[in-house]
Amino acid sequence: TMTTTPPPPPPVRPHALLVSTPFQGHINPLMRLGRRLAAKGVLVTFTTALRAAVRVEEDGDGHERAGFRFERLRGGGLWEPEDPRFSDAGGMARHVEAAGPAALKELIRREAEAGRPVTCVVTNAFVPWALRVAGEMGLPCGMLWIQSCALLSVYYHYVHSLAAFPEADDDASGRSLLAIPGLPDLAIDDLRPLLIYASDQDMWREMLFGDLGGIRERVSWVFVNTFDELEHEAVAALREHLPVIPVGPLIEPEIDGSSDEDDDGCIAWLDAQAPRSVVFVAFGSLVKTDDGETAEIAQALASTGRPFLWVMRDDNRAVLFQGTLDGLTAATLCDRGKLVPWCKQAHVLAHGGIGCFVTHCGWNSTTEGLAAGVPVVACPRWSDQSINAKFLVDVYRLGVRTPTPVTRETLHLSIEEVMSGPEAGAMRLRAASWKERARAALVDGGSSDHGVQAFADQIK
Ligand code: UDP
Repeated sequence: TMTTTPPPPPPVRPHALLVSTPFQGHINPLMRLGRRLAAKGVLVTFTTALRAAVRVEEDGDGHERAGFRFERLRGGGLWEPEDPRFSDAGGMARHVEAAGPAALKELIRREAEAGRPVTCVVTNAFVPWALRVAGEMGLPCGMLWIQSCALLSVYYHYVHSLAAFPEADDDASGRSLLAIPGLPDLAIDDLRPLLIYASDQDMWREMLFGDLGGIRERVSWVFVNTFDELEHEAVAALREHLPVIPVGPLIEPEIDGSSDEDDDGCIAWLDAQAPRSVVFVAFGSLVKTDDGETAEIAQALASTGRPFLWVMRDDNRAVLFQGTLDGLTAATLCDRGKLVPWCKQAHVLAHGGIGCFVTHCGWNSTTEGLAAGVPVVACPRWSDQSINAKFLVDVYRLGVRTPTPVTRETLHLSIEEVMSGPEAGAMRLRAASWKERARAALVDGGSSDHGVQAFADQIK
């Protein structure tokens, strides 16, 4: 008699469930990682808990496009539009922490029943409850760290007491430096914003400790929005502790500064400017400049006589349009410049008209500026911005740091130094070489592409 062997079961597609905080700045990089995983043949389901993330709905609940789908976390009052508990970040985080675990378990079960069993869970940082749930359900976890590897290393050493951190109120004149392997020595002034956060903000502290406290036990892949060439020493040193995988820069790869999506008119305006002539000023989505500082920036821009593009939130505009600032009127200011409340920053930076980037040094802005090859005037404020500024100015030598609060004289001098000082040409060349290296990391076989591919191969 003949024995027939049953046909092998169809291969189960690897399925990564991405769980994001409901903040746009966290959602974007995790979605971009998700798109890259999908391009490697991984089925990706992206989820988040609150309507704040409304832009991810564009993909439609459950609808798959190019291996990428979106699902809401449901139940327990999640995804309610106007809940007053979500009026502040703390209330929002507490509510998601309470209702998220049950909703996530339910989603993981639903996916299995639908024939798409989840292979692994990937969070961005500050979703410790999702790591716990995945652990309870026996699923391996990855985490995307959306800031620099240097910052992750600082926090890791802090949470695990692996370095002698100064106190937030230590005297800066004591010049105590912190040595962490793979990082330049950090002065207390660079660390102060982080230490103040850690000591003052319980919610933030809990999230940080919740995530990084158990990271070695819970997380099998630590993706970082950086690339190996950019932070080689920091990555190598932190690999002694964590399975670090650089996957950045997590920016839209197709950006070239062309005018396809020019809804705010910035690209058309830039097209009319001379190459590398424009001073671009933008401080991200959170930093507010007060009226005094806004006036100082206006004076500095006016006094350089250079064309400028300035992203200024509406609440800052009053000071400019109330009358004259020491003889400078809004009308004369706008002769040479363009003020916008928001722009497509990565597109603007990629435009050949940009000469320098006056930036608050948020990590996204830092990597977008690098990937565009633009020299910088660094004006860091809080959080990791001082550390990012240190790398931009002291390590990559792409510009100068201007003291805060900004004054018309210091900003004027900084802009001139970067645009036409003795080092300007060298800064521009170094910036151009970072642009090449960022691209090289992302193309097939590049260092960041390799990390994404290796992960996809592992979970297959
Ligand atoms: N951004 C933008 N248009 C603007 C200002 C900012 O698209 O007019 C984007 C910018 O490209 C970056 C993000 O907002 O991706 C800001 O992130 P970053 O980490 O630099 O700073 P944060 O806003 O978190 O302080």
